[in-house]
Amino acid sequence: MDHIQQTINEIFHKHLSNREGSPATYIPELAKARPEHFSIVVTTVNGEVFSVGDSEIYFSMQSTSKPFTYGMVLQDLGRVFVMSKVGVEPTGEAFNSIVELEKNTHRPYNPMINSGAIAISSFIRGQSFEDRLTNMKDFFSLFLGRSIGVDENIFESEKNTAHRNRSIAHLLKHFGIIEGKIEDALDLYFKQCSFSLNSLDMSLMAATLANSGINPKTKIRSINKEYVGDILSLMFTCGMYDTSGKWAYSVGIPAKSGVSGAIFGVIPGVMGIAVYSPSINEHGHSVRGVKVFQDLSKELNLSIFRK
Ligand code: GLN
Repeated sequence: MDHIQQTINEIFHKHLSNREGSPATYIPELAKARPEHFSIVVTTVNGEVFSVGDSEIYFSMQSTSKPFTYGMVLQDLGRVFVMSKVGVEPTGEAFNSIVELEKNTHRPYNPMINSGAIAISSFIRGQSFEDRLTNMKDFFSLFLGRSIGVDENIFESEKNTAHRNRSIAHLLKHFGIIEGKIEDALDLYFKQCSFSLNSLDMSLMAATLANSGINPKTKIRSINKEYVGDILSLMFTCGMYDTSGKWAYSVGIPAKSGVSGAIFGVIPGVMGIAVYSPSINEHGHSVRGVKVFQDLSKELNLSIFRK
């Protein structure tokens, strides 16, 4: 296991001086992130943790939250309902594409792009908005092993500038995909994107998926085992949006990125990995994060296709 620590140290130092990309600016609060921050954390299914860099720096989950909300709604409402509303096909388009609804059903293609994720948020159960937010927080907190908080500055910043996501939500409402109030669905989506954690937390969430849904630290089941495969297969085919094919080729593990600069990957039965570095590329992925995963995949022989 020293091998893992040594490997992440080497890869960290290899990419430390990389200054390509820049933090996202379309959500103004994200632009305040410090490009020098960088961390790599591995958590095994036995709960061992290997970390290097700024692993205690907090950031917002952004799209790395999408696989978890998808799992929550699948578990609460079942596959038949969820499948009737959101598909499971990759798009080859960017995360915020407006046009990506299927021709006849008008379903978003998958839950990893914004249209699918906003639809999924609209299905979260509860009597009131507050109830639904509490249910979502409680679900995420199981993966984290402690209560998850919302970065309210990020939330407000995204809410006030989300013209594109708002137009997607209106389209979804028009086609009868979204249920309930548009603003509630959007606010729940913005809240999940604003969940605040560090890369130690994120690697534990990833390790919980790697461990068939049981949190390796608390030993508490966070999600039914039967839905873990749904989440991971969607992460694999759609988690990196229009670079999912390249990711499968060059990294070969299920993963999800967020515009805050986080990427997490899951090696089922083995470990979860989180990388944080806020400078992103034109696809919305952390520049260093992509390079770290490519190197880690090679050095630790992680690709499911290259055993
Ligand atoms: N909150 C962001 C948005 O909806 C999430 C996008 C992302 O992380 N790719 O635009």
